[in-house]
Amino acid sequence: MSEPNPRLPGQPHIARLGDTLHVEQVSLQTLAREHGTPLFVYSKQWMLDALAAYQRGFEGRNALICYAMKANSSLGILRVFAQAGCGFDIVSGGELARVLAVGAEPAKIIFSGVGKTRAEMRQALDADIGCFNVESEEELDVLNEVAVAAGRRAPVSIRINPNVDPKTHPYISTGLKGNKFGIAHDRALHAYQHAASLPGLKVVGIDCHIGSQITEASPYLDALERVLDLVQAIEEAGIPLHHIDFGGGLGIDYNGDTPPAADDLWQQLLARIDARGFGQRKLIIEPGRSLVGNAGVCVTEVLYTKPGEDKNFCIVDAAMNDLPRPAMYQAYHRIEQLSARHGDAAKTYDVVGPVCESGDWIGRDRVLDVRAGDLLAVLSAGAYCMSMASNYNTRNRAAEVLVSGSSATLIRRRETLEDQMRNELAGD
Ligand SMILES: *Cc1c(COP(=O)(O)O)cnc(C)c1O
Repeated sequence: MSEPNPRLPGQPHIARLGDTLHVEQVSLQTLAREHGTPLFVYSKQWMLDALAAYQRGFEGRNALICYAMKANSSLGILRVFAQAGCGFDIVSGGELARVLAVGAEPAKIIFSGVGKTRAEMRQALDADIGCFNVESEEELDVLNEVAVAAGRRAPVSIRINPNVDPKTHPYISTGLKGNKFGIAHDRALHAYQHAASLPGLKVVGIDCHIGSQITEASPYLDALERVLDLVQAIEEAGIPLHHIDFGGGLGIDYNGDTPPAADDLWQQLLARIDARGFGQRKLIIEPGRSLVGNAGVCVTEVLYTKPGEDKNFCIVDAAMNDLPRPAMYQAYHRIEQLSARHGDAAKTYDVVGPVCESGDWIGRDRVLDVRAGDLLAVLSAGAYCMSMASNYNTRNRAAEVLVSGSSATLIRRRETLEDQMRNELAGD
C-alpha cells in the first residue's frame, strides 16, 4: 500500500500511506472525521526519540533534562515526559500546578522567569522544588524574604546574561544585553556574593538561556565559555556551584533548517566542559521546542478558496488563535495536503484563518490544489502553538490527540462556548 518514499523529509513519524497522511500508524483523515478540526495530533515516538538524543549526549554524566513546558503544557504531553523521568522547567505557578498534577518529582523542577510573584515563590517553596532560577537582584531579596517567612532556605541559581547573539528572531533571542532576561555578566559576581549573604537562600548553581530556535552550535559554545569563566570567578570567591544549567533553545527543522543534532551538540559542548576541568559538575538543560516541535501537526479544513486581485486566498478553519507563530514571528510552517490532489490546476495561495486581522495568516504563497472541504496538515505545530492558543474572536480552542503506534488517545476535548463564558458576568 505504501508509496516508494512515503516519509516526509525531516518528519520520520509522518508518512503518506495509501491516500492520506498518517502520524505513526494513524490516519489524520480518520482522526479529523472523529474529532473535528482544527485538531492537534502528536506523535509520542517523536518526543521519545528527541529525548533519547539528549540522553545519548549525556550518557555516563550527571545530567538532568528539564522539559521547558511552556512549549506545550498539555497534561497528556507532560505525562509522557514525567513518565520518561524528565525534570521540568516552569515559568509560573500555573505551570507548577500542571506538572505536579502529572506526578513530576518536585526535586527535578526548576523555576525560571523574570516576574515571579511572592505567591508563586511560596507555592514553589511549599512544593519543595529543586531550584529557583533568579533573574534579578531585587528578586533575590524578595525570594529571601518569602523563604525566611516560610522558615525555609530557597535553592537558587542566578541566570546570567552572557551577551551572545543566538542568530535567531529578535523576539526569541534572550541572551543579549538589550534583553530583559538574566543578570549582566559584569554584575554576576556581585549578585552571587549578595545571594550567599542572605539567610533564606542557598546558592546551588548558575544558569543561562540564550534564545530559541537556535540552528548553530557557535552561540552555545560562546555562551559556554562565558559561563565557565564566571563559574571559576564565583568559586574563587568562595561560593561553590553544584550545577551548571545551559538552558534550552535548540532549533528544529521547520523549512529545511539544519540545527545540530542534540547528541552532536552536546558532544562538542562536553568536550569543552571537560577541557576546562568542569566535567564532574552536574549539568542541567532546559529544552522545550526540540522535544515537541516536530511531534505535532495541526489538521485544518479548507472552508473557502477565494481568488483575489493580487493573491488567491485559501481560508481554513484554523487561525492565529490556534497557530500564533506566523502572526507573532512571521514564522514558517510547512503545509501539506492530506489527500491526493484533484488534478485541477494548482494555484498559489495565502493560507489564512477566519480571524478578523490581516495578521491572521498561516502560510504565504503556497502552491495547493484544493477545494472547500479538503483537509490540510500544518506541520511542526507541537511547540508554542496550543500553549499560546487564545480565544480571540470567541473561538474555542482545538482538541488534541496523542498517537502512539496504531493507537490514538484524546488528550484534550475541544473547548465549548460554555467553557469560555463560564467565568463571565454580564451584569443586569
Ligand atoms: C523558553 C525557555 C526555554 C526553552 O526554550 P526552547 O527554545 O523551547 O528550547 C528554556 N529555558 C528558559 C528559561 C526559557 O524561557
